[in-house]
Amino acid sequence: MSARIIDGRALAAQVRAEVATEVQALVTQGIRPGLAVVLAGDDAASQVYVRNKANACEAAGMLSRVIRLPAHTTQDALLATVAQLNADPEIHGILVQLPLPAHMDTAHVIEAIDPDKDVDGFHLINAGRLLTGAPRFRPCTPWGIMTMLESENVSLWGTEAVVVGASNIVGKPMALLMLAAGATVTLCNSKTRDLAAHTRRAEVLVVATGRPGMVTGAMIRPGAVVIDVGINRLPDGRLAGDVDFDSARSVAGAITPVPGGVGPMTIAMLLKNTVQAARP
Ligand code: NDP
Repeated sequence: MSARIIDGRALAAQVRAEVATEVQALVTQGIRPGLAVVLAGDDAASQVYVRNKANACEAAGMLSRVIRLPAHTTQDALLATVAQLNADPEIHGILVQLPLPAHMDTAHVIEAIDPDKDVDGFHLINAGRLLTGAPRFRPCTPWGIMTMLESENVSLWGTEAVVVGASNIVGKPMALLMLAAGATVTLCNSKTRDLAAHTRRAEVLVVATGRPGMVTGAMIRPGAVVIDVGINRLPDGRLAGDVDFDSARSVAGAITPVPGGVGPMTIAMLLKNTVQAARP
């Protein structure tokens, strides 16, 4: 058996087209949704992500502003930039690209973003809303995955779902969204004993660890839907996911590729959140 490949690029293009239509409708009401992305430092991967986000924003007819600060910027200077954007009526969404330079307190910077402009959904208020079942801005990567599952007609109601990786930006919100959709969710981390015993139970398996190829076909339940969030740059320059694609695709029922799976969906959902923030 060879798994169905879930085409994140095609679905993201569809979502972006819907966003563009909604942007046009808002523009006719005198509102152009605006997204500001703040990049502190010169992390190579972050530069690519920020460029892709800005391009996607412009392609959807939205206002895009990128603020680049040098790696030695003080935290106070970054907080002052965030405060200006909070007060700027042209800007509806603010995203501070992570990771921040090591001398900064990430949690403190995120808490400085106006929760009503927090289109990444990382602010405590938005995390709390998600936890209590009343989300406003869903974190983009897990929301993109939920959209992919929906488009594949995967019902989570009553299913065994396993998430490997428990970060605040991917694993934890992923588990909460799937729980809210009726799944029985297991959330694994680096301390999990016998990871394979958990992953082999999963009807829906989401892997977000940053460890290339760590989940192999032998760890997957036959027919499972496998979502690979990992984006890892290999020494030879190629991109690889956290799932060993070649062994996994002969066991899984459906699988996302890397690249071309979850990544494009993350950007599409960022645009959706920005439009939502701009709506009167
Ligand atoms: P973090 O490093 O913040 O978190 C990694 C998580 O994986 C932690 O919870 C860690 O456990 C867990 N983990 C690490 N090793 C193992 C292991 N051997 N077994 C089980 N769990 C393990 O990563 P992120 O969540 O930020 O990112 C994960 C991956 O997803 C990265 O490759 C990143 O590039 C990618 N990514 C992709 C996005 C996209 O749009 N496609 C968006 C965001 C991230 P513990 O808590 O115990 O430390």
